[in-house]
Amino acid sequence: MQFVSTRGSTAAATFGAVLQQGIAPDGGLFMPESWPRIDLTELPRDIGLDAAGLAVAAQTLLQPFAADDPLAPELAAICTEAFSFAAPLVPLSDHGRYSVLELFHGPTAAFKDFGARFLSACFARLRAGAKRPVNVLVATSGDTGGAVAAAFHGRPGVRVTILFPLGLVSPTQQQQLTCWGDNVRALGVRGNFDQCQRLVKAAFADESLAARVELSSANSINLGRLLPQAVYYAASSLSHWQRHGVRLSYIIPSGNLGNAAAADIARQMGFPVGEIVLAHNANSTVHDYLAGAEWAPRASVATLASAMDVGNPSNMERLRWLHREPVALRAALSADTVDDAAIRARIRGDFDRQGWIWCPHTACAAEVHSRLLARGRGAPHWCIVATAHPAKFPEIVEPLIGGAVPVPQTLLALFLRRSEFVEIDADSFELRKFLLESTAE
Ligand SMILES: *Cc1c(COP(=O)(O)O)cnc(C)c1O
Repeated sequence: MQFVSTRGSTAAATFGAVLQQGIAPDGGLFMPESWPRIDLTELPRDIGLDAAGLAVAAQTLLQPFAADDPLAPELAAICTEAFSFAAPLVPLSDHGRYSVLELFHGPTAAFKDFGARFLSACFARLRAGAKRPVNVLVATSGDTGGAVAAAFHGRPGVRVTILFPLGLVSPTQQQQLTCWGDNVRALGVRGNFDQCQRLVKAAFADESLAARVELSSANSINLGRLLPQAVYYAASSLSHWQRHGVRLSYIIPSGNLGNAAAADIARQMGFPVGEIVLAHNANSTVHDYLAGAEWAPRASVATLASAMDVGNPSNMERLRWLHREPVALRAALSADTVDDAAIRARIRGDFDRQGWIWCPHTACAAEVHSRLLARGRGAPHWCIVATAHPAKFPEIVEPLIGGAVPVPQTLLALFLRRSEFVEIDADSFELRKFLLESTAE
């Protein structure tokens, strides 16, 4: 399989090269030149959403992309290593009409563990025997950094630099970004997430830096994070179909649109994914566009669902490339926005009524679900995507439910580690200096 840039001006690249380059040389995002259609009968009759079932689905779905790449013979081992935890589809009401896809059973309790672990397992093979370490740069609005850090920590041949917006991630998230040490360093940037992202883009565009430091990205712009995310949509939609004979429609808490693009990819490949509805927080760029406005990226605003505080989502470029015409894109996806007051009310209300505990991001999807029902959109089988465990956001959730959120064992372990980070201004010169100095060590 060959991969092309969304901006069209570069030569095609293969899977391993795409993963290592992160972003296409013309500044665009890599996409496969075509979408393989998966023969669903090749997958097990009763596909499991445990680690083993996901690993099988991952191999089947990803195999065409890695075909004729040096990684191909390793793919089975990579999938087994990366898909080491479950993504259960938990019914919330009868007959599969409402369920939740729990993507938070990985090491850092958010869906980003899937993509980060897959990328890390690939890098370990791609970098075997390399002379220089590769520097993985990652801008995070909260959860990406933690997942990438956990996935790459201790991997030989890879250094990770995490940029996070100072004061704009929760204390719990900050601990998860800054507790690693060794080959993983954290930079607290005096600025917002968009500025962190701009710094990373500027570093990639800096040719004199590239001559001295080998850079790679692990943001959701990296196709190596996106494609494995299609796996849990593929497997869960197929599992639902096998059980109920109905396509599963997803409501996805969205920021940079990686998860949304992954669901769209699973649908393109022939999996029984029904509607895709994006649940945004008050950052309404995508919502406004899908509702008919001009595409107008803007600065992000801070909300309770901070991992979705994105005003200019990078994966929009992929979605627009995928659908070519705005009218096609607007037919493929719809969106709604949820403000902080509605997030609070949803967390409090669903706990009081049902005993369910949502993280602030998942709460956006739960709120959008209830609005869809109120509008008479009860016909599809809806699945809300639980992007993180509520224990990652105790500062927000606990006052709303009036009690403690039980903490998964994996998260407890991270709290015992010592936190360390370096502060910088949102200035590309400072990042450059940090990278050159830390590489010289
Ligand atoms: C990153 C993140 C999101 C947003 O996902 P995108 O793929 O960037 O749209 C939503 N919820 C949580 C908990 C996240 O960490």
